[in-house]
Amino acid sequence: MRVALFGGTFDPPHRGHIRIAQAAADAYRLDSVLFAPVALQPLKAGLETAPFSERLAMVQLACAADSRFSASTIDAPRADGEPNYTIDTLTDLRRQHPTAILFNLIGADSFLHLRQWRESNRLLTTVDWIVVSRPGSPLDDLTPLQLTETERSHIHLLTNVSEDVSATELRRKLAAGEDCANLLPSSVAAYIRQHGLYSTRYQISPASLDSSSGSG
Ligand code: ATP
Repeated sequence: MRVALFGGTFDPPHRGHIRIAQAAADAYRLDSVLFAPVALQPLKAGLETAPFSERLAMVQLACAADSRFSASTIDAPRADGEPNYTIDTLTDLRRQHPTAILFNLIGADSFLHLRQWRESNRLLTTVDWIVVSRPGSPLDDLTPLQLTETERSHIHLLTNVSEDVSATELRRKLAAGEDCANLLPSSVAAYIRQHGLYSTRYQISPASLDSSSGSG
């Protein structure tokens, strides 16, 4: 069994998420991709998002796109109110799937900030990583990450994907009433309409435009 964790804010889930998960599943013969909305991202703490329950509901709808996809609550809000650190999530994932070959699926923009994450060395060697290209985040030079040979051996680069869509831009467009039909699944678009998400309530704040993308 080959299982990939795909963590993110998913605020909202969009075409880019679906395409990169499909590309990764095809390229690495994944049986399962677990889309896991993150309750509280350590590197995005303080940033307003849609509630976890709404993001989870949208992820469940988006996962209908492919039979290999499912929504996971592994990064649900913690009882102690602390952020969800990926190192803890991967440890839980290993406990849940003791015999599986595990991967962590991530976009290039998040991956390039990896050294800011808690225990990045252990993170890189606990599972294998599938890193997918994203416009504006080139993967041709990883030297700033100062990877050891062992760490590098756990990283697989998928560089033929180019999906120019981001949740930040989507939220801006939705708040402006622009047509987003080609950027997200129609079921997710309907959910957003029905629940009045991303109108003025979740308009982007300047903090969400900085470059500290990623998880932790
Ligand atoms: P935001 O604009 O709010 O930062 P986002 O579009 O990056 O959101 P996230 O939910 O934060 O969406 O992303 C989850 C994961 O998916 C991250 O690893 C991110 O790098 C990756 N990802 C998102 N969109 C793309 C894309 N268009 N191409 C490649 N990777 C992507």
